[in-house]
Parts: sequence; structure tokens; C-alpha cells
Amino acid sequence: MKAITRAKPLSEIGKILEKDSRVFLVGCGTCATMCHTGGKPEVLVVAQRLADLGKTVTGYVIIPTVCDAQDREALTENSAAIRDSDCILVLACAYGVQTLGLYTDKPVYPALDTLFMGQETSPGVFSEVCSQCGECVLAWTGGICPLTACPKGLLNGPCGGAKNGKCEVSASKDCAWELIYRRLRALGRLEDLRKRRPLRNFNASTKPGIYLVDREDGEPR
Ligand code: SF4
Ligand code: SF4
Repeated sequence: MKAITRAKPLSEIGKILEKDSRVFLVGCGTCATMCHTGGKPEVLVVAQRLADLGKTVTGYVIIPTVCDAQDREALTENSAAIRDSDCILVLACAYGVQTLGLYTDKPVYPALDTLFMGQETSPGVFSEVCSQCGECVLAWTGGICPLTACPKGLLNGPCGGAKNGKCEVSASKDCAWELIYRRLRALGRLEDLRKRRPLRNFNASTKPGIYLVDREDGEPR
């Protein structure tokens, strides 16, 4: 799974950096590199565009994965340039932006919009397959997520608007519930559709989510 990102328009980045003139850039060697939004080539393009806007780029670094503790080391290695900067502009997903923000006192800004966690369904094509709802129903839906694959997020069957297997919201996509029906039929599990399920517990997706891993020594954290 990868965090799928899209570059913010330069006009928006210009507004974000309105009060800052010296900018340090951070790219990400994992998801953003794969999306071609935050690898070295994109960082260099942004550096040039910022220069065109009259900003000074004090330096840049591509951190292998911005969303983990490697940030601390990378920030230390570049501490002189960062000290000399008004802010850090991050070409990584929002997880990366917020992780980096844990390790610096400088303002940390996003250069990308984070769209979803994506599965590579074919080379270079990423699809959203899970909305991280906190109460997974894939066991009853043939492994296809109705909350995510149906634009209306319908959990109890189709809306009835599909035409020739295509969704009424967007004819370019298959109706999620038709896919679920066909998958369950192929699996010989159509009875899964006839069973009454308990109402969904929407508390399971209350924000902000927090999860505490059990400590092996049994001590409270
Ligand atoms: S039901 Fe869908 S959104 Fe919820 S956890 Fe399962 S795959 Fe993700
Ligand atoms: S046509 Fe199918 S996928 Fe589209 S909104 Fe209706 S149930 Fe959901």
C-alpha cells in the first residue's frame, strides 16, 4: 500500500510560502517517488519554480521514508541549511509532513495533497480499496469493499441505478455491488448476501484514531 499524492498547484504553494523567503525542501524516496510527486526530479523542479518566485532554496534532501523516524537523522545531517531557512516544504504525504514536524521547530508545509492509501492494481495505476473504517466487512462481500468501491458507500446492497454493470455516479467504473455479486457467485457464497448483518458501528471510525500495541511485558504504557 502506498500513500497516493498529487502536487499542489504552484499558486497554492506560493500562498503557503507568502511570509517565508528561505526554504529547505524535503522529498520522499518511497511513495512520493513512486507517484512522481516527491522524488529527486520533482524536488529539483520545485526548487527551480521557487527560485522563479524569488525564493531562496537553502538545500534539499530526499529521505528514504519521510513517515518514519529516519527524519531525525536527515534533519541533523542538514541542520546548518535548515537553521538558515524560514521553513521546510515537504514533497511527501501528509503522514510524512506530520512526522517530520515532530522533529523540528521550523514550520513544516505540505507541497502535496494526500489522496488515499492505494493498491497498485496494474503498473502505474493505483486504486483506493479501503477507507480504513475500523470495522471490516470484506469477509461478507467477496473481498471487495463496498464502503470504498461504491461512491455512495452503500453497505446493504446496490442503489438500483447501475446500467449494464456500470455505476450511476460514474459510467467509467463498475458498480461495486455488481462486482460483489459476481465475486460471491463465483465463490459459491451468494448466501452471504442474504444474511442479516448487525448495524455498522460508526464509533469504530471515530477520529482521531489511536491504537496502542500491547506491551510484551504486560506493563501499562
Ligand atoms: S470495510 Fe472497507 S473500509 Fe472498512 S476496513 Fe474493510 S476494506 Fe477498509
Ligand atoms: S450504481 Fe452501484 S456503485 Fe454506483 S452508487 Fe449505486 S450501488 Fe454504488
